[in-house]
Amino acid sequence: MISSCVVSLLNKPSLFLNGSRRLHLLNKNAYINGQWVSAGSKAVFPVINPADDKVITEVPDMEAADAKAAVDAASSAFKTWKDTTAKERSYILRKWYDMCAKNTDHLAQIITAESGKPLAESKGEIVYGNSFLEWFADTARHINGEVIPSPWPNKTIMLTRQPLGVVSVITPWNFPFAMITRKVGALMAAGCTCVIKPAEDTPLTALAAAQLAEEAGVPKGVINVVTSSRKNAPAIGKVLCEDPNVGCISFTGSTHVGKILYGMASKGIKRVSLELGGNAPFIVFPSADIEHAAEHAMLAKFRNNGQACVGANRFLIHKDVFDTFVQAFKKRIAKGCIMGPGTKEGVTCGPLINTEQAKKVTGLVDDALSKGAKALIGGKPAVEIGSKFYESTILTDVKPEMKIYAEEIFGPVAVCHKFETEQEVVAIANSTRSGLGSYVFTKDLGQAFRMSRQLDFGMVAINDGILSAAEPAFGGIKESGIGREGSKHGVEEYTDIKYTLFSAL
Ligand code: NAD
Repeated sequence: MISSCVVSLLNKPSLFLNGSRRLHLLNKNAYINGQWVSAGSKAVFPVINPADDKVITEVPDMEAADAKAAVDAASSAFKTWKDTTAKERSYILRKWYDMCAKNTDHLAQIITAESGKPLAESKGEIVYGNSFLEWFADTARHINGEVIPSPWPNKTIMLTRQPLGVVSVITPWNFPFAMITRKVGALMAAGCTCVIKPAEDTPLTALAAAQLAEEAGVPKGVINVVTSSRKNAPAIGKVLCEDPNVGCISFTGSTHVGKILYGMASKGIKRVSLELGGNAPFIVFPSADIEHAAEHAMLAKFRNNGQACVGANRFLIHKDVFDTFVQAFKKRIAKGCIMGPGTKEGVTCGPLINTEQAKKVTGLVDDALSKGAKALIGGKPAVEIGSKFYESTILTDVKPEMKIYAEEIFGPVAVCHKFETEQEVVAIANSTRSGLGSYVFTKDLGQAFRMSRQLDFGMVAINDGILSAAEPAFGGIKESGIGREGSKHGVEEYTDIKYTLFSAL
């Protein structure tokens, strides 16, 4: 039997990875109003495999006019999508979830090809990202309103949640599937439509997800994908932030770009949902189970080769357990961090995403080493494997005058500092404009509660190195963002409260 998926593949380009493996769900066109289209200008840009620097394929390098066409399509689709029943939206989201689950291996191949992460991690991302579609398929049917006792006789106050309209979804490359589903699942559940602008490094995953959405029955115009190179991103961003038909800008990426988009959105008093950079502290107190902390340090630091917004960025270790912790951590890195292309069996650490990121990590470590920091393990690029590979590294003796002390590293480098008191570590942890994830390892329950209260971060994990899921509310404070994704609050980002007063005649 030929499935609809296979039929659609017959009409689409295919690619053989490493000379033998076919990359399914590969699309060379963008997706606007249910059509697979090229850029108005016909321009294209290459998508590179960071593991071997080879071109995977080319996709449309779209411009402002293409973005405008996508917003118009989403705006037109909104007129009918907003009036579908919650049950219909739930059903379609669930079908999209099923399609993605069925195609986990194909989607994972695409993620690995364009982002470099090991296949096992790519599969993990599909499971994680897909859990948002499943979650919001359920949530769609529980976007309830309120009836409030009136202060006036014979009157009724009703509050209902209305969809915001077209949502501009701008996403990064580090989780190219999950960063889309946790926004699009929520906004579709709320009754909104969207234009997705995926990161220039990873447009293929977004296009594959859109293909599966189409096959799941998502009506034309509800999801649109506009691809572009970095050069054209500002012009597209301007349309996606300023077009009057856009009701909300939902962005995940750097704080720098987040501020630019926030500025443009403010001109039209648009709603924003911003998931920005982090600078997570990973705190280990003397009472902690040190082996457990070291195990979770591996998850918090080396997942996606250190390229995660909630990745541990500063290891703050009590002086009494510093040596024990760093030795346990080093042992695990030596054994567990196996570099190579993500398609190779046993590889746990892929390349960095692109040349800029590789240069950034190299520059930060070189600067620290030149000013007296010590590399306990690693400390240099692994050019013998590929141009974007960097050794998994532990740095000690890092001082405030080194650039790496305060910056979000976004690479496989663990900077370990010593502290002496709880008060001191809280001050160090909070001394950043970022406030996304944080990690605390302690067996002292009172201390765990104190840390939860005192850490200025949107999320605090106690004795755990992984905190993301569809059920909790993911998000940051300070310059790490505005709004929450996942949980029942994820949908609220895409709705307005409407107040209706009924006066009995
Ligand atoms: P980035 O900000 O450089 O790019 C993100 C997206 O914005 C890309 O699609 C890019 O093309 C687009 N973009 C860039 N300039 C634009 C402009 N002027 N107008 C419109 N769009 C524009 O971020 P990145 O390098 O892709 O991702 C890494 C950053 O993302 C890190 O700082 C990381 O912490 C953050 N991040 C945050 C979360 C979170 O949930 N808080 C999750 C993942 C990544």
